[in-house]
Formats: sequence, C-alpha cells, structure tokens
Amino acid sequence: MELLELKAAVVAGNKELPKQNLVKYSWGNVGAIDREKGVIVIKPVGMPYDELTVENVSVVDLDGKVLEGPFAPSVDLPIDMELFKGFPQINAIVHTHSTYATMWAQAGMDIPCFGTTHADYFYRSIPCTRQLTDDEINGDFERLTGQVILERFRGLDPVATPGVLVAGHGVFTWGKDVYDAVHKSVVLEEIAKMAFGTRLLFPEAQPVPAALMDRHYFRKHGVNAYFAHDDYGHGMVDHD
Ligand SMILES: [Zn+2]
Repeated sequence: MELLELKAAVVAGNKELPKQNLVKYSWGNVGAIDREKGVIVIKPVGMPYDELTVENVSVVDLDGKVLEGPFAPSVDLPIDMELFKGFPQINAIVHTHSTYATMWAQAGMDIPCFGTTHADYFYRSIPCTRQLTDDEINGDFERLTGQVILERFRGLDPVATPGVLVAGHGVFTWGKDVYDAVHKSVVLEEIAKMAFGTRLLFPEAQPVPAALMDRHYFRKHGVNAYFAHDDYGHGMVDHD
C-alpha cells in the first residue's frame, strides 16, 4: 500500500468517529501502521476532525520520531506503539471515550457477553484493565497504559477480542486495517449500551451459554466460518 493510501484511510477513519457519534470535540483518534515501511500514521494532537487532511496528518517512525506533518502527533501515540509491538496481527487502532463503553471502563468492569450481537464480534467478555499505579501515572504514563493493556491480554487472543476498556479512561479497538478497527469501535459502543440496559433491567443477568457464544463467534471467524464478510465496513468510511 502506498503511504498516501494509508494516510487517506487514517484521515477517513478519524472523520468517521464524530459521524458515528463516538467522540465529542477531539476526544479520540485513529492510528495505523505500515509494517513494511516501518511507519505509523496518526491524527495530530487536539486537531478538529474536519481540519484533518492527508497533508497535515502525522507520520512517525517506529520510535515515534516525526517524519511528516506540521503538528505533534496524538499524545496517545506511545499507547499505539506498545500495542502495535505487542499485537503483531493488528494494523490499526481506534481510541475513543464513547459514552457507554467508557461507563463500563469507569466502573472498572468487563462487559459480559449477554447476547449474540456481542458474540458475533468479541469472543467472551470485553476485558477491562486494572487501574494504573501512582508510580505508573507519574511515570511514562502513555507507554505504561499500553503495557497495562498488554498485561490484561496475557492468555487472550487480540484477534478474537479486538478491543479493551482501560479502567477509569476509555476504550481501544483494533483490526487488520482502519475500516476494521473503526467498525469494531462502533460495534463495541453498541454492545456496551445494550449490556448497560440489560444490567439495568435485570441486575442478575448472566452471560449467554458458552455454546451460543461459540456458535456465533465461530460461524463468522476461523477455519469453519460460514457467515463471514456480511457487513464488513459497509456503509462506513469511503472504501475506494
Ligand atoms: Zn483517552
């Protein structure tokens, strides 16, 4: 993929966040990596989405050194760098403070799999990290936030569980490309909203049976999938 193509995808992905009502002001960002070229493209810090272009989007190397773009990259860049290093299967990351997902993050709770909408996209619970310690908060905060996410994923597959809640903060999703990661972000927010309502109606609600979770997940993922590509990114973000 040409760098310009990746820049255009990152710009389109960022602009999709306010359209999908996942962000207010500039509370969120999309970043993507070209592993062959060794570059990351990410939204500049604090930039309004409608002012973002392929000319001003930030391009950095894998050490975070700015290669292109007139502004400083998002402060969340060190988190993305940790995740790109720790999860070699992923190529794009979305971070937002979308309302319902952030409610679960602020409660410090995993989102249980209460239904098939969830099971279609996320295998079992959507995990929430621990809180950072005072030393971590006062230290290399963003990089250590990335480390805390990787710590939560020990024993979990980031492809089967393409998102995480960061306790007291917000939500990250990821995917094989920008469209995939943004799609997961929209879906996760909807799942978080449904789970919130489920708990509100019935505080003792339990996850659906494991057999149902597995049936729904594996009919769309893995070697025996028979219901794949039904809705991948359709209606979202320009694809050409
Ligand atoms: Zn944040």
